[in-house]
Amino acid sequence: MKTKNKIILLVISIISFMFILIIADMVYNFREYGIKSIDDKAHAIAKTVEHSLTSQMVSGVIDDRELFLSQLKNIPNIDKIWLSRGQKVIELYGVGLLNEHVKDNIDEEVLRTGKTKRVIDENIFSESNYRITIPYNATSTGKINCISCHSNAQEGDTLGAITIQMSIDESKQVGIKTMTNTITIALILMIVIIFILNIIISPFLSLFDSIRKVMNKAQKGDYSYRIIGVKGKESEDVSTWINGFLEKLEITLDSIDAKISIFLSENQRKIDKDHLINVKNTVERLSDVYKFRKTIEYDETIDQVYDRLAQIIKDKTGIENFNFFEANTVNGEITVVHKEKNIFCNIFEEGCRADRTNTMIDSTQFKDICPACHSCEKYNYFCIPYSISNELDLIISIFTESEKEVKRVQNLTPYIQDYVDVAKTVIVSKKLMHILEKNAQTDALTGLFNRKYLEDIIPKITAQTNRLKVEYGILMLDIDFFKIINDTYGHEIGDNAIKIVAEILNQNIRESDIAIRYGGEEFMILLYNCDEKSIIEVAQKIRMNFSKAEIPTGGITTVRKTLSIGVSMYPKDTDDIKEAIRFADLALYKAKNNGRNTVVRFTKSIFVLQNKSK
Ligand code: GH3
Ligand code: MG
Ligand code: MG
Repeated sequence: MKTKNKIILLVISIISFMFILIIADMVYNFREYGIKSIDDKAHAIAKTVEHSLTSQMVSGVIDDRELFLSQLKNIPNIDKIWLSRGQKVIELYGVGLLNEHVKDNIDEEVLRTGKTKRVIDENIFSESNYRITIPYNATSTGKINCISCHSNAQEGDTLGAITIQMSIDESKQVGIKTMTNTITIALILMIVIIFILNIIISPFLSLFDSIRKVMNKAQKGDYSYRIIGVKGKESEDVSTWINGFLEKLEITLDSIDAKISIFLSENQRKIDKDHLINVKNTVERLSDVYKFRKTIEYDETIDQVYDRLAQIIKDKTGIENFNFFEANTVNGEITVVHKEKNIFCNIFEEGCRADRTNTMIDSTQFKDICPACHSCEKYNYFCIPYSISNELDLIISIFTESEKEVKRVQNLTPYIQDYVDVAKTVIVSKKLMHILEKNAQTDALTGLFNRKYLEDIIPKITAQTNRLKVEYGILMLDIDFFKIINDTYGHEIGDNAIKIVAEILNQNIRESDIAIRYGGEEFMILLYNCDEKSIIEVAQKIRMNFSKAEIPTGGITTVRKTLSIGVSMYPKDTDDIKEAIRFADLALYKAKNNGRNTVVRFTKSIFVLQNKSK
């Protein structure tokens, strides 16, 4: 039901209820008043008759009462009137006139009980009557003593009764008329109220209905509905404000959403038709992505960036089995940069299809689509290539057990894209930083580490040694009579000799060892976790190998050179690594003094000797 009809119905109900109450009260009071007036009139007549008869009795003219009694019938509005003699009067004076006989049970009852009795016969559509029978009770008080004439009677005995019967149709008619008038007034009043209500509240109600419709749509996210067709100044004002507000809201939300969503993957936009929800979602996503970016900017290494990206993928998408590969677009080299669980594909030998085709590879679209994925039988895979820079692609390879999960993952790719997009610049800058750092720590001629690198890792080695109690062997190496090469064959040949030393060093050390070009033709090796014996063995092997190496001289001849090597141990010789390096240098000096092409292990005596010579 419409609100307007509801209000009108409510008003009609309230007014009707009030009028029913008023009419009921009026009818009740009117009836009470009518009966009371008739009652008073009857009692007045009864008293008058009593006094008249008593007076006639006292005056001795009681026998002439017939005329008086017949005259009573002529009193206006009295239908019937008669007297009834009580037993005590009959005993003394006989049954009396016809008009003085007991007529019915009511007369009998009143004479017996001495109490007034009324009978009201009310009918709405037929005649209504009022009958009252009033007893005359003997009393010795007052002006006339009843007992003086009615000697057989006692105080309170009922000597007789008078019955008066009247029509109450007249007062009933007046009551009905009053009631009809009141109902008519009520109806007119009701119509007037409804009419006024209709005129006053109609515009507000239609405005309210429109607001309800428009706001209901807005609540569901559709801000395009407007309030139209309202009447009245106030309603028009309100509708203009609301429409203006909705217009502004719609345009602003659209504009915010459009502006901020350009920072996110396109196909994730407008997932909800509610602009406000869209804006909220977009802002939330942007905020998450921004936080991620801020965090990875402060990460120290590129590995940490990839680990964080992996964490985000796990947390945000629930994907659990995936790997990241870096593909160098220049030399085709592929590197695993993050392994979450297992690597199923033979990407290193077969290459990466996603990278080569630069398209997403989905095994649910085409079974065995990627030839590199030999051991993926029970898995579905979904590989996404991202271009990080001109030289670098990142491939995210996702494995799922169910096909349904692949569909879910496909829908999540825009989320991953957002994070990869912001990670791109950080990955590139971290890679550049890494290259710069590496360059700053690398010797350009030999590719070995330089002195700067040594300075950088000294604190790490110290901490590691203290923590893990590992032993480092330190070798200081210097080419014997190197100057002659320069002088004889030129600087370039000298450079080649230096490169040959570097090659021999690399060939004779392990991955965990560190080879450094310490100076011009002087080198240093840090041998990780070595005992005394193996350190000397490595040193001898290097010395021997170099002594056999043919150094091209630019012509048809080659030349051979030798190395002198000083050896110390850290922290065995001293717990100060810089001092241990100096000890190796002293041992090298000793090797030179011993005739060169030899390995000398540092001893305390060398140290004493050195100090003495100072
Ligand atoms: P010793 O056996 O005492 O070591 O004799 P040496 O001739 O090797 O003497 P020294 O170590 O003092 O000589 C080093 C020479 O190495 C001096 C310098 O001209 C040369 N040199 C230093 N750096 C380079 C380089 O990068 N390239 C070339 N070609 N020569 C270099
Ligand atoms: Mg030298
Ligand atoms: Mg030297």
